[in-house]
Amino acid sequence: MQPQESCILIKKKIELIIFYQIFYMSELLTNKKTQAVQAPEENLINWNEILKEFEATFGKDIYESWIKNINLEKEFNNYVILSAPTRFVRDWIVSRYADKLLDIIKVFKKSIQRIEFSIEQEQISDKNNKREFQRKNSQISLIENSLLNYNRFNLSYNFGNFVVGESNELAYTAAKKICSQNSHYNPLFIYSSVGMGKTHLLNAIGIEMSKTKKVMFISAERFMYHFIRSIKNNDMVKFKDFFRTSNVFIIDDIQFIRNKEAMQEEFFHTFNALIDKNSQIVISSDRAPSSLDRIQDRIKSRLSGGLVIDIQPPDLNLRLKILKCKFEEIKKIFNESYNVSDEIIQFLATEITSSVREMIGALNRVLAFSKVNAKSPSIYECKKILKDLINYNSKLITVEFIQNTVATHFNLNINEMLSARRSRILARPRQIAMYLAKHHTTNSLPDIGRKFSNRDHTTVIHAVKKIDELIKKEPEIKEGIIEIRKKLL
Ligand code: ADP
Ligand code: MG
Repeated sequence: MQPQESCILIKKKIELIIFYQIFYMSELLTNKKTQAVQAPEENLINWNEILKEFEATFGKDIYESWIKNINLEKEFNNYVILSAPTRFVRDWIVSRYADKLLDIIKVFKKSIQRIEFSIEQEQISDKNNKREFQRKNSQISLIENSLLNYNRFNLSYNFGNFVVGESNELAYTAAKKICSQNSHYNPLFIYSSVGMGKTHLLNAIGIEMSKTKKVMFISAERFMYHFIRSIKNNDMVKFKDFFRTSNVFIIDDIQFIRNKEAMQEEFFHTFNALIDKNSQIVISSDRAPSSLDRIQDRIKSRLSGGLVIDIQPPDLNLRLKILKCKFEEIKKIFNESYNVSDEIIQFLATEITSSVREMIGALNRVLAFSKVNAKSPSIYECKKILKDLINYNSKLITVEFIQNTVATHFNLNINEMLSARRSRILARPRQIAMYLAKHHTTNSLPDIGRKFSNRDHTTVIHAVKKIDELIKKEPEIKEGIIEIRKKLL
């Protein structure tokens, strides 16, 4: 090599190092994950002290039932990771006590800004699953203790428990198709808003294809993380080789690479190398390729070069099916029965429409309630448990409001309905109103009786029993009550 050439080469190398350093620094500043700085040893929180404070604040009952079971798993400068024994406990604590917990932790360490939870049971089953999975699938190269520990399949997201309906049928069919044969859908690009099942489907593809092929499954965020670490550790060659040896490359949440030029470049090269060797690529995103702003046009056009499919929000029927499927799954996993009425399942499916993830979160809360109270929540209680998820105009339903709504529904004068007359035309609506008052308000039975022209609480009990029976026997009554409920809620 001429001295001049080697000079140019060295200069280029220095430029490249400077570029990567600048890039790395800027990512450190913008990327939350890489920002996580572990707390220095001497500043560590004394968890036992905090537990004592929790007990003093929440009282013995709540502390013993819930709080005692959480542990400090890891501490960073500005957040802590706590572990809860089960998903139930986590959801219960998050929905009721999280703000207070954070306040107390802050008293001990001011810099803590947020709490994150991990679930012990899942960690154990993840480990077991992983071991089992490794044993069965030597095709998947899990590199333990390495930065490139990428294949994080969640074995509970498979094709078997993906419920199919009109809104996700195309995505499901395409996903199955690329597993069963060498399809021409390359890349397969699936997009939807959050919580619609993209990661679930991608996992299912990964699990299925890893039976015969070498699969890489990674979120764009982790890809980026490994990319930066490889630059830092001078391991770029290994990084490149590593991702290019797969026959199937699955990348979740590609929207993450928006605005990250260096990463886009790397992704583009990986993408091209894989397509050249006929590897299958599967991508998910929160929006269509054409709507991915701040991504180079040539990448967008490559992304849409195969099959692009969206998952639409599920309709009521599909939401109901998914809920029932999840409910059965949870019962099996925990080997327990839960007292949750069909009416409540229907209520969740009707009310929580924003995402399947939220709907499942709501189901978990309802199950936690039913476990603690050994009964199914009423609609009223359900609304209270889920008040942050359901967008009601937060008007609490009163007995008077129920009486008015029922009277209007049956075209009656309210005074007539509340009168002592016993004709069925008046008595049935009166009983329905009592029934609804019991289910949708917190008023005691004697109190409800008083509001129905000073009747005794036994009359209310009788009315509730009667309507319960009629709902089972007479579809007209059931329909009527559903109609009135819609007006109430
Ligand atoms: P996304 O990646 O689109 O944000 P996820 O795949 O994480 O959504 O799904 C959120 C939750 O909803 C997961 O628990 C997933 O199992 C569940 N889910 C979504 N769609 C379905 C479906 N069609 N059948 C069963 N579970 C589903
Ligand atoms: Mg996802």
